[in-house]
Amino acid sequence: MTVLSDAAHGSATNDAAAARARAVIPGGVNSPVRAFGSVGGTPLSIVAAEGARVQDVTGRRYVDLVASWGPALLGHAHPEVVDAVQRAAARGLSFGASTPAETELAEAVIERLTVDGVRGVERLRMVSTGTEATMTAIRIARGATGRDVIVKFAGHYHGHSDGLLAESGSGVATLGLPGSAGVPADIAALTLVLPYNDREAVAAAFAAHPGRIAAVITEAAGANAGVLVPDAGFNRFLADAVHADGALLIVDEVLTGFRVGPAGWWGLERSGAVGTAAEGEWVPDLITFGKVIGGGMPLAGIGGRADLMELLAPLGPVYQAGTLSGNPLAVAAGIATLRAADAEVYRRVDAAADTVRTALGAALEAAGVAHVISRAGSLFSVAFRDAPVRTYDDARAQDTWRYAPFFHEMLDRGVALPPSVFEAWFLTAAHDDDALSVVLDALPHAARAAASATPPA
Ligand code: PLP
Repeated sequence: MTVLSDAAHGSATNDAAAARARAVIPGGVNSPVRAFGSVGGTPLSIVAAEGARVQDVTGRRYVDLVASWGPALLGHAHPEVVDAVQRAAARGLSFGASTPAETELAEAVIERLTVDGVRGVERLRMVSTGTEATMTAIRIARGATGRDVIVKFAGHYHGHSDGLLAESGSGVATLGLPGSAGVPADIAALTLVLPYNDREAVAAAFAAHPGRIAAVITEAAGANAGVLVPDAGFNRFLADAVHADGALLIVDEVLTGFRVGPAGWWGLERSGAVGTAAEGEWVPDLITFGKVIGGGMPLAGIGGRADLMELLAPLGPVYQAGTLSGNPLAVAAGIATLRAADAEVYRRVDAAADTVRTALGAALEAAGVAHVISRAGSLFSVAFRDAPVRTYDDARAQDTWRYAPFFHEMLDRGVALPPSVFEAWFLTAAHDDDALSVVLDALPHAARAAASATPPA
């Protein structure tokens, strides 16, 4: 398969494409971080992607470390995934009815989320976006407990539903916003935002609001304010703390699920690959998936304990629905992706991430730039400071202004990084030696650009 083509779009420029888009699409983008707001310059207008590379309207190719913000675990336009989608498309785009394929995908997820005989997921409901998945998980938690208050952590991102935007990561962090206009104060008041990795703050919240907290929602490992690694045993602590109060733990694996390992971050902890066996002895009540589960198509899911999941309509009183939920093309992409994502794929993604992370550290070291690299499995990010990053406040207390020149030097040298210092870098199984050498060649130049950057006046 040859997806990329120099001839196809060689006449346009990214500037022209962006100007035309801005006239009809707010900010020229359908998701804010794409706008290059924090790094400046013109966003790339992408026409094709294959393997480790994306191609812009000018025909130029870049080694891509965004991977569609996570989904492209196998690399772009993986032949088996494209073939599965094409075959599904030929059978019809959407039926608005149940399909055997969605059952197969649910079975595959439940099988993967069974670690050493322990089931992390007993039932799965499919939706189209991670935002819907976390929104629905919260509704289930409120329906199950009869309580209203939700606890989230500063710097974690769970999509853009009203109750979850306060002190959120991802684009909200990139744009330096406290939350969003348009969220009614009464709804925002039901969300308590706590510092991440802070056991005392969690204990104090339960002490201050006994019997009122429906759930704590947490990224399994934070990856939306840069990478925020959970302290050893923190997820286990959360599970114990919520259950002691009769609340529920919602673990958001939209980003980490099927990316950092076959059973996501929970699988790494539960199997002892990360932390001790005792620290891994917890099971989420509800868990959300997105990104890799749809292999690049709009698909996400809410999973969890059968008794909680069966509160959903039509069995129970918690309503949730979707015209395109379980869409056959998205399900075909998801099944093909999970089928292809074997141990060798995870080995390759981990190895590629190790290579880039090590070279990044060496380049910044050589250029004399204060930095710390945070790592959760194959996900990692850089912060321009010399102390560890455990919380959102830590992530914000860095020389963020060093990132724009770093980013643009990489881009000029053919590497597309996430256009924000508050995002993780994504490797794929398609990042072979050839693609990695482009990244490794560019890094020392980018590190020197970061070193010579000056703070804004
Ligand atoms: N949860 C996490 C952890 C995410 O990283 C994201 C998106 O980046 C979401 C939820 C929202 O997913 P979506 O963008 O598909 O709505």
